[in-house]
Amino acid sequence: MNTYYDRATRNKSVGSFTDQPTLWEMTEKALEILSKNDHGFFLMVEGGLIDKQLHPHDWERAAYDTIEFDKAIEVAKRFAERRGDTLIIVTADHSHSNSITGTYWEGDGRSGREAVRLYAEAGFPTYTHGQSGRFPIEFPDTPEVERKLAVHFGNHPDFYNDYHFPEEPTSPTIRTSDGKTVANPNRLKNPDDPNKGRFFNPGTIASDLGVHTADDVTLMAYGPGAQYFKGTMNNTDVFIAMARAGGFDLLGRAGSPKTPSVGGAR
Ligand SMILES: [Zn+2]
Repeated sequence: MNTYYDRATRNKSVGSFTDQPTLWEMTEKALEILSKNDHGFFLMVEGGLIDKQLHPHDWERAAYDTIEFDKAIEVAKRFAERRGDTLIIVTADHSHSNSITGTYWEGDGRSGREAVRLYAEAGFPTYTHGQSGRFPIEFPDTPEVERKLAVHFGNHPDFYNDYHFPEEPTSPTIRTSDGKTVANPNRLKNPDDPNKGRFFNPGTIASDLGVHTADDVTLMAYGPGAQYFKGTMNNTDVFIAMARAGGFDLLGRAGSPKTPSVGGAR
């Protein structure tokens, strides 16, 4: 599937696949079908393109996909509210190294890192919602606003960053004919800029893409059994808590009401 931004704007990268469903539509359909089972069901919904866009440092496509994921959670939450018997767990399987540093504004003629505004100078970004008719109201009308968020990554290959949004997905690196990985000038708004060196970010890793990081991730739980998810948990204990919420006895003791204790609940 293409990213949410590309599907919604039907740009060239989508090709003839113009009728791809959204994650929230697929969630709605899956719940409709699975809820017919009287014995209950397990459904996993993954916003998998968030990760896929963070590898090439396309944080704006990742943000649109995160909002799409949020709308899928909304569908699940409405279902759970109606039913009262459904546990929803929202989490990530790993992190990436991106953080919001401030804002990016070229209004006084500066560009590149000189135009990243920090602390009080950052002010507020100027994204708008619900005015373009291109997206539902939850999404910014466009990622290319006058003052946008400045997002940086802790690990990345050599790449060019002019803080502008590539209208189509573009790899941060290319492979030369002698097999070397180098920064891809097509990531720039003007790939032929004779002064493009000012946008060059020396890589912190020898790779063609950014990589996963090992930071803690957020987990949120809603519904019956949500009390088993609290504090700081080992990822392997999430499974135990899910089993416990479902009333399963993982040790297989016939008639035993006990389930193994949960890391976060100890
Ligand atoms: Zn990944």
